[in-house]
Amino acid sequence: MQCLVYNTTGEPLELVPALMGLVLHLRGKAEILETVPGRVARSPRLTFPLPASVVLRKHRRIRSRVATLTNEHLFLRDGHRCVYCGRHRRELSGREQLTRDHLVPRSKGGADKWLNVVTACSSCNHRKDDRLAEELLRRPQSAPWIPARQDLVLRRLARAATVA
Ligand SMILES: [Zn+2]
Repeated sequence: MQCLVYNTTGEPLELVPALMGLVLHLRGKAEILETVPGRVARSPRLTFPLPASVVLRKHRRIRSRVATLTNEHLFLRDGHRCVYCGRHRRELSGREQLTRDHLVPRSKGGADKWLNVVTACSSCNHRKDDRLAEELLRRPQSAPWIPARQDLVLRRLARAATVA
């Protein structure tokens, strides 16, 4: 169960475990906005509602608005779909997995940066590595973009909502 943390300005910052949201509240660092209906945390003497969202009391400065490039973030940006064949992670077969694919290969000086990376299933990634296939130049179905941290928080939320 997750809790969305809002900054004082109302922008969503991150998702944390609901218990962490409760701890923020109990330490006086955040106000509870919404609780999870019917779910509580218990201590030996007390019962607390679990927060679904909290707002920080003190403004948190965001150092870098651009999300850190990790595979988790990359797959989230691309909706957990291979940009070449369009298959979702759920549609991959047992041995396949999502990978980070460099549009300009690293061996040719391509950067490990947001605008040069896309989500590719391992099959498409291997196929692209192959010289002959490279001559065919498969184009990704969507262009890479630079996500802000906030974009990913919202995507993760939407994802959690569709899974639930
Ligand atoms: Zn693919």
